[in-house]
Amino acid sequence: MLLTITTTHVPATDLGYLLHKNPARLQSFSASFGRVHVFYPEASEQRCTAALLLDVDTVGLVRGRRGENRALEQYVNDRPYVASSFLSVALAQVLREAMSGRSKERPELALEALPLRARLTMVPCRSGEAFLRRLFEPLGYELTAQNELLDETFPQWGPSPYFTIELKATVRLSDLLSHLYVLIPVLDDEKHYWVGDDEVDKLLRHGAGWLPAHPEREVIVSRYLRRQRHLMRAAVEQLTRDEAPDADEVEAAHDAEEAAVEKPLSLHEQRLATVQNVLKASGARRVLDLGCGEGRLLRMLIKDKQFEEIVGMDVSHRCLQIANERLQRLPPMQQARVKLLQGALTYRDERLRGFDAAAIVEVIEHLDPARLAAFSRAVFEFARPATIVITTPNAEYNVQWESLPAGKMRHKDHRFEWTRAEFEAWSKEVAARFGYAVNFAPIGPEDEEVGAPSQMGIFTNN
Ligand code: SAH
Repeated sequence: MLLTITTTHVPATDLGYLLHKNPARLQSFSASFGRVHVFYPEASEQRCTAALLLDVDTVGLVRGRRGENRALEQYVNDRPYVASSFLSVALAQVLREAMSGRSKERPELALEALPLRARLTMVPCRSGEAFLRRLFEPLGYELTAQNELLDETFPQWGPSPYFTIELKATVRLSDLLSHLYVLIPVLDDEKHYWVGDDEVDKLLRHGAGWLPAHPEREVIVSRYLRRQRHLMRAAVEQLTRDEAPDADEVEAAHDAEEAAVEKPLSLHEQRLATVQNVLKASGARRVLDLGCGEGRLLRMLIKDKQFEEIVGMDVSHRCLQIANERLQRLPPMQQARVKLLQGALTYRDERLRGFDAAAIVEVIEHLDPARLAAFSRAVFEFARPATIVITTPNAEYNVQWESLPAGKMRHKDHRFEWTRAEFEAWSKEVAARFGYAVNFAPIGPEDEEVGAPSQMGIFTNN
């Protein structure tokens, strides 16, 4: 059984850091079912392929099992050759760090979607190619499947239930490995070991972020857990329970609460209009909306032809989906000027380079204070647009809102809310560090004592 993973991300040999396996060496590991070998058939700057070869010891597997009759079938079977749950065991054992998205040397790359191609030999799939497609295509893979003949010397015997498949996508390596971890045993449908309660945990852990929304969720759960009804029930229950407090939905609910608190002022509309005016006045043609949420600012910017290229980025897949659906309703010419990216603002991102201006509206207060330094480097040092507009609530103003209990923040996901002095101190420090000038302006009606509900910093470096 052979799995190869190829990347064309440059430098491609970084794949070695992500897998925690040196491209220059062959490494072998013992597993319960035999040996696992990791090696690199190719490793150049442009293209690097890692291979995971499972050498299954069928005899060893059968030997020592007391009380079982050693039928020939135990020795003569497809187990040594097919992609099976042994692959999942090997992934979890040999590529544990990579699966969990950790990399000591390349922590940012581990979280980045990369051009990847996985090739798997002898994937058993009795339900045929259509089922393979139903499993992998909803996850964004381009799938090529080649059906193997039962026996090359007797083509008249027809096709076997085995496929060699290739999966291609721009995806995080850890996500690709999690998808394989869960779906290979689902395809094999013949799990080698006892399925116990901890299998439900493993399924939920490795299915986090994609299984709850997968259209074949029920089939995947049922097959992964070997159709053991009580486990299936437990898993489906947890998957659907997890759906309710889905991070994005909580976010949406909290947004609604925040909107309700701020509504009498229709503050958000004022805020977006103010930001749009600042972007326009800066003369920017290519603009970023970082933490674009559901894309309200994007839809405003698109109406103005000055903005020739508009890119929205957010970490939330759900928000981007909503943004995308709303953008689809615009005329095609307008749609063509806007692009959505998924990404985190706390990592440097090549895709954000070369823009004239960036808007970051009501986003920084969602970041963990410990990540603010990473955020300012990613935006001010790496993306480095000439103009950066940041807005954030003014905590002093909170006393003005009757519906907001004293000492509470406006939104449950806010990690902090700054006073004007705090925001200004942070902004000046960042501006000085990265060579920008900064000016401040209030957003919304100003109170003499506590100021306006929102505050804006306009950073320029020209
Ligand atoms: N700018 C939008 C949304 C503000 S809500 C508006 O004004 O309407 C905050 C947004 O920041 C959310 O959509 C959230 O998903 C996003 N966000 C939070 N942390 C982020 C991060 N680290 N990287 C990118 N986006 C992030």
